[in-house]
Amino acid sequence: MRAAVITEVGQPFEVTEVTLDNPGPEEVLIEVRASGLCHSDLHVARNNVGFPMPAVLGHEVSGVVLAAGERVLDVKPGDTVVTSGVHSCGVCAACITGRQFQCTFPAATARPAGAPARLTLDGAPLTQFMGVGGFAERVLVHTRNVVPVPSEIPFAHAALLGCGVVTGAGAALNTARVRPGDTVAVIGCGGVGLNVIQGAALGGASRIIAIDLDPAKLEMAKEFGATDAILGTGDTVAAVRELTRGGVSHAFEVIGLKATTEQAIAMLGVGGTAFLIGVHQPGSTIEVTPFGDLMGKQKGIRGVSMGSSTIKVDIPMFADLYLQGRFKLAELVSHELGLDEIDAGYERIKAGGVARGVITRF
Ligand SMILES: [Zn+2]
Ligand SMILES: [Zn+2]
Repeated sequence: MRAAVITEVGQPFEVTEVTLDNPGPEEVLIEVRASGLCHSDLHVARNNVGFPMPAVLGHEVSGVVLAAGERVLDVKPGDTVVTSGVHSCGVCAACITGRQFQCTFPAATARPAGAPARLTLDGAPLTQFMGVGGFAERVLVHTRNVVPVPSEIPFAHAALLGCGVVTGAGAALNTARVRPGDTVAVIGCGGVGLNVIQGAALGGASRIIAIDLDPAKLEMAKEFGATDAILGTGDTVAAVRELTRGGVSHAFEVIGLKATTEQAIAMLGVGGTAFLIGVHQPGSTIEVTPFGDLMGKQKGIRGVSMGSSTIKVDIPMFADLYLQGRFKLAELVSHELGLDEIDAGYERIKAGGVARGVITRF
């Protein structure tokens, strides 16, 4: 099959012929129909974070099941499915108490050491990013990373459920547990930030303040449920504090920068929590004042992984809400592209104004 392979950090994606193994007992073979361009893929492709190359990136996939191993219980050939990068063992304390996103043994979804690689190029193993490797015609993944969804959802929309949606809306609903009357600020209104906003709206937040440098993204944020929009060029902290008479209950940082993370903490009201979603560079640091901020104002700082999601519950829920017209997915797809256009797709994201590019031509 064809896959977009990246051989070294900083190198372009190159579409080439690779080999997928047959499904193991707990694995699912999926024909990819749509694959989203997430910032995490770009992060690994462009920054030296020690990720093993060569690799096939991509992890936000929708498609149709071609084959399933004998111990796969919840999907069968022909089913429409979504993949997600939440890895769980299913037996640790976190998993069995409803926190699979905090699994102790996330490597349990990988093949055991010594077993043949799922994905190879000329006989040599290729790393599947997040255990998926979605920039390809097909993916072979563990059953715990596969979620069935209703077949009525267009593939390009369904793909976003696997990462952008659970990461953003999950952070609002699961991690922050936004409830009616809460106030929310979201710094960074790309694909994930827009999902934080619509998650906060679903939770009943009375005020949702969108912050971005791009006026076009702020306009989109309002369509997703933001009640206020602030251009990020000014004093955003003062503006948020004024709008909310003292600061928000929850501030979400969806960029991954020191300055905006510190702003997120500064714009919290007493007892508020800052949620860190944007991916920071390894080794980067932020500054907080424990005495004033954390103790005096009882603020919290919380890192978020995959929106604290229980994917087999949350993804079908968002799919239902979408089919009922209560959750936006179509508006998140700004353009569709071919498997051989990934580099150009990421250039468009860097140029701004793009919610999500999705590969739909393989
Ligand atoms: Zn992602
Ligand atoms: Zn576990």
